[in-house]
Amino acid sequence: MYAIQVANLKKNYGSFSALKGISFVVEQGEILSLLGPNGAGKSTTISILCGLIQPTSGEVTILGHSVQNEPMETRAALGVVPQEIALYPDLSARENLNFWAAMYGLRGATRKQRVDETLEIIGLTDRQKDKVSKFSGGMKRRVNLGVALLHRPPVVIMDEPTVGIDPQSRRYILENIKQLNKQGMTVLYTTHYMEEAEELSDHIAIIDNGMLIAYGTHRELIRLVGEQTRIDLTVTLEPEKVIPAWKQVEGISQIDRTDGRISVLATDSNRVLPYLFEATARLGGRITSVDILEPNLEAVFLHLTGKALRD
Ligand code: ADP
Repeated sequence: MYAIQVANLKKNYGSFSALKGISFVVEQGEILSLLGPNGAGKSTTISILCGLIQPTSGEVTILGHSVQNEPMETRAALGVVPQEIALYPDLSARENLNFWAAMYGLRGATRKQRVDETLEIIGLTDRQKDKVSKFSGGMKRRVNLGVALLHRPPVVIMDEPTVGIDPQSRRYILENIKQLNKQGMTVLYTTHYMEEAEELSDHIAIIDNGMLIAYGTHRELIRLVGEQTRIDLTVTLEPEKVIPAWKQVEGISQIDRTDGRISVLATDSNRVLPYLFEATARLGGRITSVDILEPNLEAVFLHLTGKALRD
């Protein structure tokens, strides 16, 4: 059984088609990132998954339960981290968590324990008595994340939880997600930051203009562009001396000189590097620095859509 199954999902707003038939699955225990630029349809997809808006057509299930027909079951299985902060600013972090824990039906000692554990997870035990209105944007987001975790849902959906926050809180949230995932939680994560999708995901679904344009592991998506890795090197010898020798190495398609460095394009940096070291040593020189620049999801997106992922 899939944690989440989305089949041919469509959503029209009047004559505008925000989702044009999206299908994907999230396996139990994995992190899937839904990656796409602003306006791609990420929030719309998520709002449908959470039962907040009705699709025009299509089928959505959470752990085998239909979101439309079994709202109670799907809600119990799901934790949602919305993009907007859903907290009471005049209450403390603890009071906010307590309030939401009560809403989830947690009582007495269980509630206290869950709130304690959750404060620990989001790293705000020390600040639990402070009013949320005094918190930074990043800390508020961490409380927001905590709210979604209170009922220990097996599946958590996060709608761009790191937008506009400080690097430290972002790191905290990303590490939290990895930890929770290690403990078995399934995560659907939406983002327009390709670095986050690269770092977190088992699978990545790229959407644009309401359509799923690519799906796969990071490696599989990179393979779509067939792009090569660039290796920038510096050597103790004159480039003219080493370049002819390096050109003999199999797997290298291009070598250029760029202000003091040598740029090599290769299909597999791990395979060619030992040969570059060896060829340089044979000429009596040494490689003194190596920079490997792997192709990224930005390149994949550009290849598929002809435009940049970033705004
Ligand atoms: P994302 O989350 O990827 O930034 P959204 O799902 O928010 O994208 O939006 C997808 C498209 O649907 C956008 O063009 C947006 O303007 C449009 N849209 C979203 N909500 C509404 C609505 N309530 N009415 C009309 N258009 C909407």
